[in-house]
Amino acid sequence: MVKSPIKNQNPTITPFYQKIEAPLTKKGITVLQINLGKRCNLACTHCHVEAGPKKTEELSPEICEQLLEIINKFPQIETVDLTGGAPEINYGFKPIVEAARAKGKEVIVRSNLTIFFEPGFENLPEYFAQNQLRVVASLPCYIEDNVDKQRGAGVYQVSIRALQRLNQLGYAQDPNLNLDLVYNPALPTSQEKFSIPPNQQQLEKAYKDYLQQHFGIDFNNLFTITNLPIGRTKQFLQRQQLHQSYFKFLEDSFNPNTVPNLMCRNELSVDYSGNVFDCDFNQMENVPAKTPDGKNLTTAKLLEMDDLDVINEIQTRPYCYGCTAGSGSSCGGSLV
Ligand code: SF4
Ligand code: SF4
Repeated sequence: MVKSPIKNQNPTITPFYQKIEAPLTKKGITVLQINLGKRCNLACTHCHVEAGPKKTEELSPEICEQLLEIINKFPQIETVDLTGGAPEINYGFKPIVEAARAKGKEVIVRSNLTIFFEPGFENLPEYFAQNQLRVVASLPCYIEDNVDKQRGAGVYQVSIRALQRLNQLGYAQDPNLNLDLVYNPALPTSQEKFSIPPNQQQLEKAYKDYLQQHFGIDFNNLFTITNLPIGRTKQFLQRQQLHQSYFKFLEDSFNPNTVPNLMCRNELSVDYSGNVFDCDFNQMENVPAKTPDGKNLTTAKLLEMDDLDVINEIQTRPYCYGCTAGSGSSCGGSLV
């Protein structure tokens, strides 16, 4: 058995490191995911970053400079993945986009789409297209009612208009303009409603048929994502007294074939303060990545060490079972 200093805070659940029978290690880093801040024009019930219009936390000019230096210095970074909050309204969005594109890197913007209709952001779709950003947008269902329940009244119709606008600009037609959608299941209100996402390919076809038929919308890929019991999802489950049983459900759905492809294996996730994490979920739960000598990793430290591949062991927690359940789950959808 692999020893770990981490105590299992969830006694009915097998510690994740025991389940995978070895420490989880990094492969070479190729993805830099940056959470630009918690400001968002929406406040969705499932939001794992607990973002919203009243939040003020965002990237500082100092950390933005460090990130630009990292982007310019390390050709091994193939993808810069921008998230939030609504990344577009947080400090540093455009400088980071433009630096990464100038180096020929893929840039992903995780957009909630509704931001296109906020004052001052009307030209974002054109900006996305000009810079060939890959747009990844949450549309948790293709049915209006289900989306509005999760994201707020009227969000579905606004999202549809935004997708039509992206299509008009060439998204999902031009091979350089990728538009991907994200599905996540509704939050369960009883144990019988626990679910992991259905087959990604089949659901993608259902989305494509429905959106094309009803709205003439095209998109490239659908990513199915499991609800991890963190952030607002954790609070919701705790209120329903389903927290422990949901962990158990995820553990019982463990699929070892997902482990080689976990997104934490090739990414660094950075917060608006320059702290470095193994993934966005660890960032939200404040579980920092560690240097080989056990210190918390930061962007300043990465620059000082002049190396991105400095993490010996990925920090795992019981919510990691959310990434390994069924076909697996990541910011890029299912894993197997
Ligand atoms: S749009 Fe995204 S970041 Fe904003 S509240 Fe909703 S889930 Fe959170
Ligand atoms: S939550 Fe998922 S991505 Fe993050 S460390 Fe655990 S397995 Fe890896």
